[in-house]
Amino acid sequence: MGDTIMSATAGISATAIEEVESFMSGLRKRNPGEGEFHQAVEEVARTLMPFMLENPKYIDAMILERMTEPDRVVIFRVSWQDDAGNVRVNRGYRIQCNNAIGPYKGGLRFHPSVNLSILKFLAFEQTLKNSLTTLPMGGAKGGANFNPKGKSDREIMRFCQSFMTELVRYIGKDLDVPAGDIGVGEREIGFMFGHYLRIAREFTGAMTGKGLAFGGSLIRKEATGFGCCYFVEEMLNRTGDGIKGKVCLVSGSGNVAQHTIEKINHLGGKAVTASDSDGFIHDPDGIRDEKLQFLMDLKNVKRGRIADYAEKYKCAYVAGQRPWGVKADLAFPCATQNEINEAEARTLLKNGLKGVGEGANMPSEEAATDAFLAAKILYAPSKAANAGGVAVSGLEQTQNAQRLHWSREEVDTKLQAIMKDIHATCVKYGAEGDWVNYVKGANLGGFVRVADAMLAYGVV
Ligand code: NDP
Repeated sequence: MGDTIMSATAGISATAIEEVESFMSGLRKRNPGEGEFHQAVEEVARTLMPFMLENPKYIDAMILERMTEPDRVVIFRVSWQDDAGNVRVNRGYRIQCNNAIGPYKGGLRFHPSVNLSILKFLAFEQTLKNSLTTLPMGGAKGGANFNPKGKSDREIMRFCQSFMTELVRYIGKDLDVPAGDIGVGEREIGFMFGHYLRIAREFTGAMTGKGLAFGGSLIRKEATGFGCCYFVEEMLNRTGDGIKGKVCLVSGSGNVAQHTIEKINHLGGKAVTASDSDGFIHDPDGIRDEKLQFLMDLKNVKRGRIADYAEKYKCAYVAGQRPWGVKADLAFPCATQNEINEAEARTLLKNGLKGVGEGANMPSEEAATDAFLAAKILYAPSKAANAGGVAVSGLEQTQNAQRLHWSREEVDTKLQAIMKDIHATCVKYGAEGDWVNYVKGANLGGFVRVADAMLAYGVV
């Protein structure tokens, strides 16, 4: 047994450790080469096992084995033509993980790294995350190994239409409702939803993250970043503190990062970094007002690189690195999975880090998570911290079903209430004396609802 597992399981019984090992060795055998999927499941299994040993009904019914075997995995070819007339081929996926508590729900990712392992980890996490919101949503994820970078709008459109030509068979307002993720924003949702309408011949909310003109919800594009900040603010408030006055590191510069920075500013904090896959910028004066608007235009309209921000505002740009070496109070990883390793986590802690809000999904490597937990800082894992995005997607579905459109204030108030509830659930299941283990709280809180529904259904 490696050092990582030893430290991660500190404080749980030898029986629980053995059970986790035996469960994980079966899972690894059944899903060879799927590192990200193993990592996500193992973290959950480690926190759930002591609870399941105390409540053997979940073990007897093999709930965890069933929850980690997706309901179905669809893989399909996506052929399209680039502007030069060349034929191009990509691989499309939809992982429908679990629909015990509602129709499948989860984003679509377009990125060259997309593979089965990454989408299975995301679909599994999504199942627990959606349960935490208390809205009726099952878990799914999908996407393609397609790289939108450098493609023209016409190429993106042709790809999205070809992708939807196949995906349409598997989605629907009461069946499976996809949304955006990395590489899939309002432009891509527009192209896909438009093509869905042509084929399905009915106007229903079969996708979320839609434009406001065709059934989208106000606050949806801000929801993941705003929700992440609301959650961190809740954690800090519980200890008599707040984001106000805190220096914050943000990674990424896409949808989640932009609105995390926006809300940090609203709450009186100072976001000093942003990044993309080429490097990061450090602006000690804070990315605010006109500078934030510049960043948004740069990434959403011009589709440029983060280095352009440093050039415009004469601040530091560090190529090929992530921002975790900068001294700060709070860290908001908002780019991608496994973007904080153990050494970086230790540097952050050495520099006086008080808390982490994971806007991205599983941004901390296992050993980094262990370091944060061992240091007993305020550590908000992704399935709790970034649940605001899917929560407002759920609210978009409700508005579509009612053929109503709620105001910005109404949606934002509901989002804040949902994040507060998720925080309370984490405290309920994760309190350890004065400190809260939010990883345990989120895993248990998300698991119980799905597991109880599965128990009620018998062997299905
Ligand atoms: P975007 O595509 O809008 O932005 C992604 C950002 O992350 C870009 O700055 C991108 O840089 C950077 N990035 C992506 N992949 C890598 C990589 N391998 N290494 C370094 N940087 C990378 O995506 P979102 O903001 O929507 O998503 C970000 C994270 O948040 C993801 O983990 C996603 O799953 C999660 N999330 C998103 C939700 C949403 O509502 N959109 C909801 C919940 C979670 P570059 O442009 O150079 O690629």
